[in-house]
Amino acid sequence: MNALVKREAGPGIWLERVPVPQIGPNDVLVKVEKTAICGTDLHIYKWDEWSQRTIQPGLVIGHEFVGRIAEVGSAVHGYEVGQRVSAEGHIVCGRCRNCRAGRQHLCPNTVGIGVNRPGAFAEYIAVPASNLWPIPDQIPSELAAFFDPYGNAAHCALEFDLIGEDVLITGAGPIGIIAAGIAKHVGARNVVVTDINDYRLKLAADMGATRVVNVGKQSLREVMNDLHMEGFDVGLEMSGNAHAFNDMLDCMYHGGRIALLGILPRGAGIDWDKVIFKGLVLHGIYGRRMYETWYKMTQMVLTGFPLGKVLTHQIRIEDFQRGFDLMDAGQCGKVVCSWT
Ligand code: NAD
Ligand code: ZN
Repeated sequence: MNALVKREAGPGIWLERVPVPQIGPNDVLVKVEKTAICGTDLHIYKWDEWSQRTIQPGLVIGHEFVGRIAEVGSAVHGYEVGQRVSAEGHIVCGRCRNCRAGRQHLCPNTVGIGVNRPGAFAEYIAVPASNLWPIPDQIPSELAAFFDPYGNAAHCALEFDLIGEDVLITGAGPIGIIAAGIAKHVGARNVVVTDINDYRLKLAADMGATRVVNVGKQSLREVMNDLHMEGFDVGLEMSGNAHAFNDMLDCMYHGGRIALLGILPRGAGIDWDKVIFKGLVLHGIYGRRMYETWYKMTQMVLTGFPLGKVLTHQIRIEDFQRGFDLMDAGQCGKVVCSWT
C-alpha cells in the first residue's frame, strides 16, 4: 500500500510502498478515506528536537483520519466491515489506576498512533477496536477526518463552565479557531482570540469570536477597555508561546481559570506573581476525554456547530507536499487529504 513514511532522520516525508498492517484479535483494519495534517506531523516533517527524541525512522506517520472498516479481528464484537469510523489516537494501557477509574486521558502509559506506532497516513491502518469512534451518516468525511484536534479544542473549551463568561483564547491555530466556535456555541459572553497571523484571525472571527486581536499590531488591554472588561474569567492557552501565556496571566480577572493546551518551550519564563496574587487556577489539558469528549463533539456537529468553517484546503494525497507547505506557512486552517 501507499503510505507517508518518515524514511530518514532529517527534514522531509516520503510517499512509499509499505506492507498492509496485520491485525490482532482485538484490532480492526481500517481502509483510510481522508486524513488531516496536524502540527505534530509538521514537527516530524521538520525533524525538530522533539521528533529526534521521539520518532523512529521508518514510521508511517499521521493520526487524524476517517475511513471504513475493512477487516474485523476474531475477538471484536459490535463492528462491521464497511462501517465508517474515526479513532482516538491515544492508545491507553487499560490497567493503570487512571484507566481503571475511567480517566483514560490521564493514562501514564499512553501510546500515540503515528508517533509511537504506525499511523494513519496510509491506505490502511490497524487500530484496537476499543479506540474506534463510529461516525454518523450525517457527518461528512472531510469533517470526521479531524475529530482528533476538534477533540483537543472541545476537551479544553469544555473544561470550565463558559456560560456568560469572558473568554480569552491565545493562538488562532486550527485548535484555537475551533475552541472560539465552541465557546460561543455553549454561551460565553465575549470570546477574544489573539494571534500574530491575520489569515487565521479571520477564520476565528468567522467562527464567531467577539473580537480578534493581532498582538503584533494592537494591545489586548486596548480591546479589553473597548469591551468594558476588567479581566477574563476563563483563558484557553492554545499558542504554545510564552509571550502569549504571560499576556494571558496579565489579563485574567482575579480568580480566573486557565486551561493550558499549547505546549510551551522548556524553561518558559512565567510571571508566577500573577498566578499567586490573582488566585488563578491553572489546569493542564492532554488529549481528549475517552469517550465523553468524542460524544460531545459528535452531538455538537449534529446540532449545528459549524466545524466546517476551519476546513480551508482539501487536496489529494499525491499533493502532500503542498499540504505541509501550507501548514508551515500558517496560510490555512485544517488541510484534509483524500486517499481514495
Ligand atoms: P498551531 O501551531 O497551528 O497554532 C498556534 C498559533 O499560535 C499559530 O497560529 C501562531 O501564529 C500563534 N501564535 C504564535 N505566537 C503568538 C502570540 N504571541 N500570541 C498569540 N498567538 C500566537 O497549533 P494548533 O495545532 O492549533 O495547536 C495549538 C497548540 O496546542 C500547539 O502548541 C500544539 O502543540 C498544542 N497541542 C496540544 C495538545 C495536547 O494534548 N495538550 C494536543 C494538540 C496540540
Ligand atoms: Zn492506563
